[in-house]
Amino acid sequence: MIRERLEEVQNQIVAACEKTGRNLSGVTLVAVSKTKPVSALQEAYDAGVRDFGENKVQELVEKAQLLPEDIRWHMIGHLQRNKVKYIIDKVCMIHSVDSLRLAEEISREAVRHQTCMNILIEVNVAGEESKFGVSVKETEELVRQISLLPGIKIQGLMTIAPFVEYEEENRKFFAQLKQLAVDIEGKNIDNVNMKYLSMGMTGDYRVAVEEGATHVRVGTGIFGERDYSA
Ligand SMILES: *Cc1c(COP(=O)(O)O)cnc(C)c1O
Repeated sequence: MIRERLEEVQNQIVAACEKTGRNLSGVTLVAVSKTKPVSALQEAYDAGVRDFGENKVQELVEKAQLLPEDIRWHMIGHLQRNKVKYIIDKVCMIHSVDSLRLAEEISREAVRHQTCMNILIEVNVAGEESKFGVSVKETEELVRQISLLPGIKIQGLMTIAPFVEYEEENRKFFAQLKQLAVDIEGKNIDNVNMKYLSMGMTGDYRVAVEEGATHVRVGTGIFGERDYSA
């Protein structure tokens, strides 16, 4: 079942790339496996998935121990500063950095581990009260501050678009995130890259790819509905 769903998602990504003349190699499908058992991740792995996204530190660490070492783990959820130390040497990128204090902690831990962590700045493009992320207006200033820290490299922006009935409704937010990345890239800030745009989930990843997403984070579309009752 996972294999079939995965194939369907990949086909949709191919179609969105063809429609807009994008190169498929510029889009990474991050399989969001939160709440799912290791057996489900193994199934996706066997079908070729190497990029997995988790939103909880403990869950990510536990799963990473049990699964093949060539998996690239993406931290996509809100991250508490006191937990950075547990994932600093386990993840390939943190998509959800939205404060200088969090970035400072990532920087400290990265330096301690003699590594450099790739991060994305989470932007609350739609300005939803319930969401984490900095506002569009605050983003450049935060980027400038974080760019001065050692052991950390800003690679782009991330957003979680509103939950909508029709994915077209989110097109404007994806376009806005892309434009913000272009604007910041144009400032030529040292140690800052705007090459990645992490946007699009099960409900809207097609539109996100059409608008330039380099990372789509798809959970339900691959693994089925999540059960939070346990
Ligand atoms: C859960 C989650 C996703 C995946 O959501 P689906 O709608 O199941 O595809 C993507 N991004 C983040 C940050 C998430 O927490």
